[in-house]
Amino acid sequence: RLYGPERRNSSGLDLSQQNVRDDIASAIRVFRDSPAIAAGAIVSGKADTGGGELCRVPFHTETVLGACKEASEEAMDRALDAAVKFQPEWDKLGGPQRATHLRAMAEALESNMPRLIALMARETGKTLNDGIAEVREAVDFLRYYAMGAEKDFAAPVRLPGPTGETNHLSLHGRGVFCCISPWNFPLAIFTGQVAAALAAGNTVVAKPAEQSPLIAFEAVKLFHKAGLPVNALHLLPGKGETVGAKLTSDLRVSGVCFTGGTNTARMINRTLADRDGPIIPLIAETGGLNGLFVDTTALREQVLDDIIISAFGSAGQRCSALRVAFLPKATADHLIEGLIGAMNELKLGDPALPETDIGPVIDAEARDMLEAHLEDMKSRAKVLHQIDAGQIGREGYGFGPALVELSSLDQITEEKFGPILHVIRYDPDDIDEVGAKLHAKGYGLTLGVHSRLDSFYKEVRAACPVGNTYVNRSMIGAVVGVQPFGGEGLSGTGPKAGGPHYLHRFAAERALTVNI
Ligand code: GLU
Repeated sequence: RLYGPERRNSSGLDLSQQNVRDDIASAIRVFRDSPAIAAGAIVSGKADTGGGELCRVPFHTETVLGACKEASEEAMDRALDAAVKFQPEWDKLGGPQRATHLRAMAEALESNMPRLIALMARETGKTLNDGIAEVREAVDFLRYYAMGAEKDFAAPVRLPGPTGETNHLSLHGRGVFCCISPWNFPLAIFTGQVAAALAAGNTVVAKPAEQSPLIAFEAVKLFHKAGLPVNALHLLPGKGETVGAKLTSDLRVSGVCFTGGTNTARMINRTLADRDGPIIPLIAETGGLNGLFVDTTALREQVLDDIIISAFGSAGQRCSALRVAFLPKATADHLIEGLIGAMNELKLGDPALPETDIGPVIDAEARDMLEAHLEDMKSRAKVLHQIDAGQIGREGYGFGPALVELSSLDQITEEKFGPILHVIRYDPDDIDEVGAKLHAKGYGLTLGVHSRLDSFYKEVRAACPVGNTYVNRSMIGAVVGVQPFGGEGLSGTGPKAGGPHYLHRFAAERALTVNI
């Protein structure tokens, strides 16, 4: 049975069309020629801006795009009070009415695509194709969760019972959800979390990543303009240690939705455990040490294409990205030679230009971490190749995609978030053992398999169970409603974003038994 065949995903924009490229280019020029953007908290629809941290363009760090004033304690207090007060009304509105708001929010994003894509290219270094996919995903989340609100939050479900007794089960918002989103999907994941919490009947205080507050600021303004009640969603930008810590420890918060690093998720869990008040859920989507297993029946060109996209697309800054490719000993040399050739074809450069494949990494800290890891690999493993970061290396946070050969999986223990691909030679006959070794690392997000044999991918999947397995295709770019996304173990708590069970975790279930 198909879930949701009546719904269609957004069609996005086609970069091969000249008018689309022109629209985006003019949006880029608007940002270049306008005064710096002033962002900050938005509480009950009122923005508190002026001063704050400068937002630099990662591709060209001398350029300042804007500034974001961190949410003050007082702003957080007001936002929480307003969100608590408004929540019962929002919940009572019911799923179908809330869905109408979500659909209006989707339309607001869709009709501002060039501007949003341009802003992400500048603020986070997203390529135009990634920016298009990002707005589409945000729109899809809104419409998908709108459908879920209509299906599951419209009316109580009637349950059987003895004669004279009626039983109903209904879903409600839990209260105020705190949504903490990452910079690598600064619009899609930001919007997805907020949309799910709202769809389920919660009001929201949202803390975007400190590296990407401007796009979140822009999105919240659009949502309010599209009719979302201003007390349903408040924006509280700032650092994790300050704003994130205060919000998660505040007893007015009834649930937390977080996407980011595994260690931060642990910290949030500890904070929630230490609170005296109600026990509340954490929905966390974290990192992955994602593997791809190739056997000797795989088609070489397809393997090379998919590895390049999965490891280096979005500069490797996706939780889903490929980190370790297991190549059969028999064909490894030929595959590695092909990979190096394909890497040399990648175009690194200004993310705002349509021909760019890979832009900068997000900030100096990310670049330094990747450089340190590569140095470490030079002494402990073998760096086979690295592309020159070129202009971005000189003017921005550039890091050239790199290929590293490991002699053992023991040489890597944790996710390194960026464009470094590790390869390792193995014997596909040992798949059970090698797969189990990868699984023992504790992550469980994405897994790739390249093989023409059904039996092989089934063996891989059994040895290394994860949230999202992809056979003979790339491992990134899960589509809302098609590949519900999210992992297990060190990779997160579930449920899967863009899947039929996501909204339920944001809700409280209430049963009513009446005996008349
Ligand atoms: N959903 C994204 C994908 O499938 C990854 C999300 C993330 O990096 O957090 O590529």
